[in-house]
Amino acid sequence: MKKAVYPGSFDPVTYGHIDIIRRAAEIFDELTISVLDNKAKTPLFSVEERVKILKEATKDIPNVRVESFSGLLINYAAENDFHISVRGLRAITDFEYELQIAQTNNKLSGGKLDTIFLTARLEYTYISSSSVKEIASFGGDVSECVPDFVADMLYEKYNQKSRGESNE
Ligand code: ADP
Repeated sequence: MKKAVYPGSFDPVTYGHIDIIRRAAEIFDELTISVLDNKAKTPLFSVEERVKILKEATKDIPNVRVESFSGLLINYAAENDFHISVRGLRAITDFEYELQIAQTNNKLSGGKLDTIFLTARLEYTYISSSSVKEIASFGGDVSECVPDFVADMLYEKYNQKSRGESNE
């Protein structure tokens, strides 16, 4: 069985990510989307929320699983027998960063982990989780970037913040 992992922050998942997920799920027998629980970053959505959102957004794709991981991708990959990591490329700026990570992962894993890149579809190239958060924080329209239920969750998060509520 050909399996792969698609690791990322997904804070939150966008149509750009979902398109990569659909295309990777066509290539591999099983695709595991793994949300990075990075204690050094302060995400808008908790890792549990991001996993839940991804499960809902990909529920119609049968060969996709969603889970989370922390620490180094190479360790998580070795423990779960993943030898291929999928990543998306939007622009040359992504490429420089992604190339370095891919080469580092290959080196540190002793050649056991390879990275496969799928290029973003043109209509999603401009979308990033950070720009979506910025737009939503000002109540702007993110309907072309994320599914409606994700947009609602974003507005709700920023409403909570403006009311001074904390979810931590
Ligand atoms: P990171 O994992 O680098 O913190 P993300 O969770 O946003 O960032 O992205 C995970 C992966 O998805 C990365 O490989 C990124 O380049 C890719 N990606 C992000 N946005 C898009 C998009 N709009 N289209 C295609 N790929 C994307």
